[in-house]
Amino acid sequence: MAKELFALFGNPVSHSKSPLMHNLSFQGLHYDACYTRYQLQDGEQLKNTFFSLGLKGINITVPHKEYAYNACDVLDPFAKKVGAVNTIVEKEGKLYGYNTDAPGFLKAISEFKGIKTVLFLGAGGTAQSTSSILRDGEYEVTLLNRSEGRLERYKQEGFETYTFENFIPKPYDLVINMTSAGLEDDSLPAPKEILDSVIPQAKACVDVIYGKETPFLKLAKSYNKPTKDGSDMLLYQGIIAFEYFTDHQFNFDEIEPHMKKAFIL
Ligand code: NDP
Repeated sequence: MAKELFALFGNPVSHSKSPLMHNLSFQGLHYDACYTRYQLQDGEQLKNTFFSLGLKGINITVPHKEYAYNACDVLDPFAKKVGAVNTIVEKEGKLYGYNTDAPGFLKAISEFKGIKTVLFLGAGGTAQSTSSILRDGEYEVTLLNRSEGRLERYKQEGFETYTFENFIPKPYDLVINMTSAGLEDDSLPAPKEILDSVIPQAKACVDVIYGKETPFLKLAKSYNKPTKDGSDMLLYQGIIAFEYFTDHQFNFDEIEPHMKKAFIL
């Protein structure tokens, strides 16, 4: 039996690449551990389940990132600021919480140079941590969302926000699909007229959905824009989580070649 056990908590978890990503890295780096998946129905049971399974660490996916935040004894300052935890590590009986989605995302978009203004299509949970880290990095983030409700907290934090009804097109360097539109359907994240008004002026377009070409990315390609899906974000958040899981015994560059294999198998 492996010395340390890790898992992904979420609902659903069956299609996640995380077990493969982490197990390939444990194997490749000769670290005695194993990573599994656990479909957690009730987020309130996160802490009990963690300890009853004898885990060393977990990643948390939809819909439990806020429960994960509440379950932690110690929060990393960034996770505390954005209110979302996707990585937990147990040390001496205490749960330490981190957010690796946002730094993973920041690294993924940093390949596009000369970017200052960013338009987020969507304002859900992923937008919350990623908009915050981009703003810390001195990008200017504007949010455009289908409905008004989710924009409220961003308005209070001083972000420029629009719904489809009051959006005024202007040039944005990067346009990002932060919604789940296109994940399990063929919908665009915003009306086509709006996308046709911003994509041609953008330097690049990014989708956080991974493993498929969404209608949004197809449209961006039809305008000959450089594009990227969510695979790098997934890979990089995983590498950063692995650094925490192994208490920084391995650095990013050592982990990357092993974890990357999950994307070519
Ligand atoms: P949430 O449920 O928190 O938010 C969903 C957002 O999508 C809302 O802004 C919602 O708008 C909008 N939306 C949903 N459907 C449509 C539609 N048909 N048209 C327009 N807007 C729509 O989701 P998350 O923030 O947790 O996840 C967003 C995406 O990010 C998902 O596709 C997820 O797979 C991806 N993701 C990728 C990661 C990676 O590593 N690559 C990591 C984490 C997430 P409204 O407020 O109007 O409902």
